[in-house]
Amino acid sequence: MEIFRKTKSLQIILEAFAHSNHALSVAELVKQFKEDMNKTTVYRILERLEKTGFLHSFTGKDGLRWVARCKDEYASNHTTNHPHFQCQECGKSECLTIDISIPPVPNHKVISANLLLIGQCEDCLY
Ligand SMILES: [Zn+2]
Ligand SMILES: [Zn+2]
Repeated sequence: MEIFRKTKSLQIILEAFAHSNHALSVAELVKQFKEDMNKTTVYRILERLEKTGFLHSFTGKDGLRWVARCKDEYASNHTTNHPHFQCQECGKSECLTIDISIPPVPNHKVISANLLLIGQCEDCLY
């Protein structure tokens, strides 16, 4: 079994999030760190960070998985739903700091919602 090289790999990944306010695609992270760690390690670290509430993930265009840092208010309240936005021109994804309340669905129990808004980001719009 591969030993989980916690300190270095974890630090590299945390660093990537420290420098970015935007969501990062998992595929991009794997590519970016292929010199430092293998794909499995990246996945494992992201999974751990997600479990601890540091990150959350969502599905973007073309089914790609994205990860973003949880803002404090979201980390403490996991029932809050916030939508994500993806720019169709540059592909950048981000968390939107607006709350969406999901209407009750008769005879169904909603556990989570994944809302992706697609359009043009601030950089591409002007
Ligand atoms: Zn854009
Ligand atoms: Zn988000």
